[in-house]
Amino acid sequence: MSEQVIAFIGGGNMARSLIGGLIIDGHPPAALRVAEPDTERRERLAEEFGVQVFEENATAARGADAVILAVKPAMISAVARDLSQQIQAQGSLVISVAAGIRSRSLAEWLGGDVAIVRAMPNTPALVRTGSTALFANAAVAPEQHELAETTMRAVGIIVWLTQEDQMDAVTALSGSGPAYFFYTMEAMQSAGQALGLDAKTARLLTLETALGAARMALESSEEPAELRRRVTSPGGTTAAAIDEFDQANLLAIYARALEAAAKRAHALG
Ligand code: NAD
Repeated sequence: MSEQVIAFIGGGNMARSLIGGLIIDGHPPAALRVAEPDTERRERLAEEFGVQVFEENATAARGADAVILAVKPAMISAVARDLSQQIQAQGSLVISVAAGIRSRSLAEWLGGDVAIVRAMPNTPALVRTGSTALFANAAVAPEQHELAETTMRAVGIIVWLTQEDQMDAVTALSGSGPAYFFYTMEAMQSAGQALGLDAKTARLLTLETALGAARMALESSEEPAELRRRVTSPGGTTAAAIDEFDQANLLAIYARALEAAAKRAHALG
């Protein structure tokens, strides 16, 4: 990876994951900077990763090729306004991972024709298996596209969106998606226990089955629907379970659930 300087504004969970991933990918720690107001967190980041840490956002962002806004969404506007002049003068790329903050709002706070990439990662980024959707505004140059891409790839897969309003669908699908799978795991684990398995066994079988199914689906050229059909023989055990799901109209429930999440994302953003 190139030795471009990346500055993180906020050194919390998301920044830690990205920093860890970037270092594993070969990004030199000396080219990574973090601004973090919490002294303990700051010291831990310096110790653990060997990155440069700063108390002041502007000092961390000085001369950076990319400035990653990794603070809570409620803090973004104040942080962006404070850095606006410096970012415009430097021509830095701004990457925001804040949920629900539109690039148009960011551009307004940052002032001028600033290159902005909005990223929507999800929680598995914390274990480097995140799914991130990216949207670039018109000011983003090709090499900045690449920088945003290599940065976010450090915590999982990435997809580019051509329209920012698709971000609501992404929020509903992959953003909130981990919770849907946790919910399914919760349901399967307790159903397994109800059938007589101990909690530890039910948990292990549930989680490994989830992982195995995801791996199989990823490695196969077939659609999940086809994979499901192949393991469902008529009159068999899987069919008995699927019949129950169909009677409850599971597909419609998912459609409604994701629609509700997307609507909420739209209202928040
Ligand atoms: P976090 O609370 O762990 O980290 C935020 C950090 O920002 C804290 O360490 C805090 O001390 C610091 N901070 C507060 N005010 C600041 C300021 N004015 N200047 C600089 N730093 C400041 O939060 P997080 O989970 O890392 O989330 C960060 C962003 O990432 C959020 O906008 C969130 O929407 C987004 N995000 C997180 C996840 C996730 O799984 N954690 C997933 C998707 C998106």
